[in-house]
Amino acid sequence: MNRAWLPELLALAVLLVIALIIGWTAGDVGLWLFIAVALYLVWQLVNLHRVEHWLRRGRRFSAPRAWGVWRILIEEIYQRRRRERERKREFTQLLREIRESTAAMPDGVVLMNHLGEIRWLNQTAGRLLQLRVLQDVGQRLPNLVRHPDFIRYLNGRNYAEPVEFALPSERGLHLSLRIVPYGEDQQLLLVRDSTRLHRLEQMRREFVANASHELRSPLTVMSGYLESMSEDAALRAVWAKPLQAMRQQTTRMTAIVSDLLELSRLETEPREAAYASVDVASLARRIREAALSLGQGPADITLEIDGDLQLLGAERELYSAFSNLVFNAMKYTPADGRVSVSWAADADGAAFAVSDTGIGIPAAHIPRLTERFYRVNKSRDRDSGGTGLGLAIVKHVLQHHGARLKIESEPGRGSRFTCRFSPERVARRGGQPASG
Ligand code: ADP
Repeated sequence: MNRAWLPELLALAVLLVIALIIGWTAGDVGLWLFIAVALYLVWQLVNLHRVEHWLRRGRRFSAPRAWGVWRILIEEIYQRRRRERERKREFTQLLREIRESTAAMPDGVVLMNHLGEIRWLNQTAGRLLQLRVLQDVGQRLPNLVRHPDFIRYLNGRNYAEPVEFALPSERGLHLSLRIVPYGEDQQLLLVRDSTRLHRLEQMRREFVANASHELRSPLTVMSGYLESMSEDAALRAVWAKPLQAMRQQTTRMTAIVSDLLELSRLETEPREAAYASVDVASLARRIREAALSLGQGPADITLEIDGDLQLLGAERELYSAFSNLVFNAMKYTPADGRVSVSWAADADGAAFAVSDTGIGIPAAHIPRLTERFYRVNKSRDRDSGGTGLGLAIVKHVLQHHGARLKIESEPGRGSRFTCRFSPERVARRGGQPASG
């Protein structure tokens, strides 16, 4: 028991003893005991009223003076209120600091609730998204930022990557927006001005496209002359080897230039490819013929194609991607190996796969294969006549079709490159559902 109870109980005991003595001398013990208890109760009620009055009137009024248990109670309440006040002050200070630092950030920040309503935004977000910092709080963000790419991003609920778009009202302004979910269905929107980066990226693309374009004519002239020179018997007798090397290199340069142009074209059209029916069976037959005429790899290519299954996309791009995979399989598979191509529907859509029993790729290289000019074995792969751009083209084409590339490989045993297309991108001839 707390020590404060001792005087309290002692006081009650003294009061009762006094009442007993008076009652005994006055000849009415019951009445005097009743008076003593009533007095004690009144005293408790007075204390209770003082405490309640103090709690109700707030912290500006000093704590009432009391005695015994009431003193301990009042002290405890006082301490707790003080601690709570301090904590509140600290929180308010912290909140103010967070707000001030976010307000000063060079990036825009918008806090949204689960309904997409704005709860708070900083000046930069207001400037970039053309929102009013005070008036637009409480409004739904999709009603204010109506760009179709942003609405699609918001509804898609896949916020791993930011969405980028140009604001039509602000010419030249390019924004990068990213949603970060937090708490219970709350969202933080980060807005960044990506105009400079976008311009740099555009300049890089234009430079590569222009340089490749400019290189095309001199290369055509050089190839033409080299061809005529190789046909000249007198020259061939002395220059056969250098001429052959020069022709090989110009052919390689022409291939690099045309791959670079293809990549630039794919990059400048970042939109999804339109939906047009592509007959994969005939595409695969054409690729097979072209691959066999390369004169590299096995003497045949096995086709396992679902002839009724159509792919909805851009035929030229798909030819370029699929042929790159098949040509690679032929390049990296010895003559006694096997190369097979399959196209079939399954529960997740459909897959176009190219398998070979060739040299394979060590696991460490696989994540980087789609980078431009990335080669597993620099000198060997260059000698094989590759440009180092094939898989980068494949990646871009697949991105255009909302598809994914899966690479499985084991050194010495072979590789399998699978292009996975979603169900919306596949259809059966005659309009039946395409599920496998
Ligand atoms: P390249 O034109 O050099 O073949 P790619 O971008 O098409 O360039 O391929 C990148 C690299 O990936 C190649 O240099 C090669 O090392 C490796 N590679 C691609 N396909 C295969 C395959 N089927 N088997 C083994 N290695 C492959």
